Amino acid sequence: MNLVSSVQQTAQSKPSKIAYHFMGKDTTYAQFDMSVSMFANALQNLGVNKGDKVAFLLGNTPHYLISLYATMRIGATAVPINPLYTPDEISYILENSDAKAVIAIDPLLPLVEVASQSFPTIENYVICEMSPDAGQKLGTLNEAVKEKVHSFSMLIKKSKPMTEAVEVDEDESAIILYTSGTTGHPKGAMLTHKNIYSNARDVGDYLGFSENDKIVATLPLFHVFALTVVANAPLVKGATILLEPRFSPGEIFQMIREQKATVFAGVPTMYNFLYQYPEGKTEDFESIRLAISGGSSLPVSLLHNFEEKFNVRVSEGYGLSEASPVTCFNPLDRERVPGSIGTNIMNVENKVVDEMGEEVPDNHVGELIVRGPNVMKGYYKMPEETAAALRDGWLYTGDLARQDENGYFYIVDRKKDMIIVGGFNVYPREVEEVLFSHHDIVEAAVVGVPDTNFGEEVQAYVVLKEGSDATEQSLHEFCAKRLVKYKVPKSIEFLDELPKNTTGKILRRSLKDQVKS
Ligand code: AMP
Repeated sequence: MNLVSSVQQTAQSKPSKIAYHFMGKDTTYAQFDMSVSMFANALQNLGVNKGDKVAFLLGNTPHYLISLYATMRIGATAVPINPLYTPDEISYILENSDAKAVIAIDPLLPLVEVASQSFPTIENYVICEMSPDAGQKLGTLNEAVKEKVHSFSMLIKKSKPMTEAVEVDEDESAIILYTSGTTGHPKGAMLTHKNIYSNARDVGDYLGFSENDKIVATLPLFHVFALTVVANAPLVKGATILLEPRFSPGEIFQMIREQKATVFAGVPTMYNFLYQYPEGKTEDFESIRLAISGGSSLPVSLLHNFEEKFNVRVSEGYGLSEASPVTCFNPLDRERVPGSIGTNIMNVENKVVDEMGEEVPDNHVGELIVRGPNVMKGYYKMPEETAAALRDGWLYTGDLARQDENGYFYIVDRKKDMIIVGGFNVYPREVEEVLFSHHDIVEAAVVGVPDTNFGEEVQAYVVLKEGSDATEQSLHEFCAKRLVKYKVPKSIEFLDELPKNTTGKILRRSLKDQVKS
């Protein structure tokens, strides 16, 4: 079984079940499967073959789901890219992944024109029409470019369903996901058909996804969290995906109310925006049985505030691109533990080890390592990086964690973000938790800055609530009451907002760069 055959099965057994809802329109599993089959055939007719890499520059629209399942169906490999990346970032991935075709939204046509000249190896560009004048823009392309550019809607319209199935081995790459990477260039994690199917199935089982669920998909689908939790897992379990192309609290609440959504998944920043939204009411989350948080640590005070305001259970999980991504989640049948990423999901083992790779005792901090059918086969064309990440069958996550006596894991911080002040370890997260518990602070981030006496010092950045009269001095005193001296930020800077990537993760690295410059 793989993702494609699982959707085909649902299309046969429950053809009229709704696979996804987008802009007021429902699409059934049978219709979805038919579009996938027609687009798969169209790709084959363009000359896209088994093993070829197909890059996606797409948002949360049906084009994404159809392109992904069609690419996998012909045994090609999908390479999802954030469409908001800069041309340089996109070019790096196109080149490194050996992309042979690109599927992009029409606002990126200017980029396509440039790429069609600088990447002779890319043979085809499929443009998904989003803007009203997309057709017109396609018509005005110069002849040399036009030859390589096709309209998504025309391809599907003219195509017929695929007649011959392509044999796909479960250990072949279904997706290459480029990870954000904190140093150097991003690395392409090769996720096989087995990796992504097993994680979608196991996450679906663990979180009790069923045909009765309607899952809000506002997390960007080019990111692995969304890909598995709000797209593949719902599809494997025959649930309905509520596609929401952009994150806006008002629209999310409206979608939940109108569609009676049952599951919401977001990163902590989204929870913060929803919580702060002045018009948000308890009833807005009435139909939601489960609110999922992941991607970065959910401050405990935010979890409590959110649960109280919206009367919903918030369950935190953890994952990373290299593990397709989920390894841990707070279980549904037991107490959810605030501040914890939960316990092993089925079929996946997590372990906390020391520098020698030996398991540490309960509640001791070490590196989190992971083993299971969800773990990538390696980084594309990077044998050294692969050997460093995959050792003795385990994936080394680079995250520091501890496990308690009940089997619950806690992420302490990223290994490389740890600050060492005069020989003492400071985990930015624990300082951020304290700052975040201050009622005037909306966002907080902590980084280490060089210090001549102590090696490093703690520097905090905060965003205050509008109208707050908190000062650096008052926040300093607040922290000093709650933290040992060396953990108290030496300086606290006020910003209008914190730098974040498009998945909402706070970019501590760009704050550090700011300090350097
Ligand atoms: P990515 O590969 O972009 O999904 O990033 C994975 C990284 O996000 C992990 O290695 C962690 O550092 C971080 N992360 C994901 N989930 C959590 C969580 N619940 N708590 C803390 N960090 C997390």
